[in-house]
Amino acid sequence: MKYLIVANWKMNPSTGKEAVNLFNSVKKGVKTVKNAEVVICPPFVYIPLLGRLSSKALKVGGQNVFYKESGAFTGEISPLMLKDLKVKYVIVGHSEARKFLDETDIMVNKKIKEILQVNLRPILCVGEKAEEINQKSKILKRQIIKALKNVSRRLVKKLIIAYEPVWAIGTGKNCSVGMTLNSALLIRKIISKLYDNKLADKMKILYGGSVNSKNSKGYLKKTAINGLLVGGDSLDVKDFVKIIKSAS
Ligand code: PEP
Repeated sequence: MKYLIVANWKMNPSTGKEAVNLFNSVKKGVKTVKNAEVVICPPFVYIPLLGRLSSKALKVGGQNVFYKESGAFTGEISPLMLKDLKVKYVIVGHSEARKFLDETDIMVNKKIKEILQVNLRPILCVGEKAEEINQKSKILKRQIIKALKNVSRRLVKKLIIAYEPVWAIGTGKNCSVGMTLNSALLIRKIISKLYDNKLADKMKILYGGSVNSKNSKGYLKKTAINGLLVGGDSLDVKDFVKIIKSAS
């Protein structure tokens, strides 16, 4: 299975010119990488610009999406619109969307259904807050069960799950490889109970939270962890390319 390395640029950079430069520099850096699929998720406005520069090795993804196909939803973007721009992957349920946009598990569920319906691949972010560390298993169960309510086995095959402990995002305090592995196995167990073992084994599970070029390899060495979701460090080309190469 190829590793999946996803960059979440969040609300950066400030201009299209910078976005193009950043994208092109990463593109140069990934030319020789064979065993990883790399997806850059820029702010929506840069997707058409970067989509034109994308390649098999370096794709463009969405950071969020709305759960309707079209209509009177001011300010929103539909999965079909992303599909039209050749986007394949969309992040859903990111802790920043849950916190700043009040995204709920019910909204996450609607988004996942709409994304899968148009044949795109959702990257569902789940993870506990600092004060929930002792209830990690309960939180992961709740988030996953609610996100996947009424999602069929046929469609859920396209789902990717990113374990992103909220306390590790943007803090410089990455989750230890051991704890991450424990979460990845827990997530597979939840999926296996909801669907079956085979599907749970095959599902791509990523880790995200203060990943950098020094700690990335430790996660990727574990077979239960199939890739990374990188925020802050993905804006540093040298470091991000090193992270990608740590998949080699
Ligand atoms: C993220 O935005 O999903 C993320 C993991 O951010 P960071 O790498 O900056 O912690």
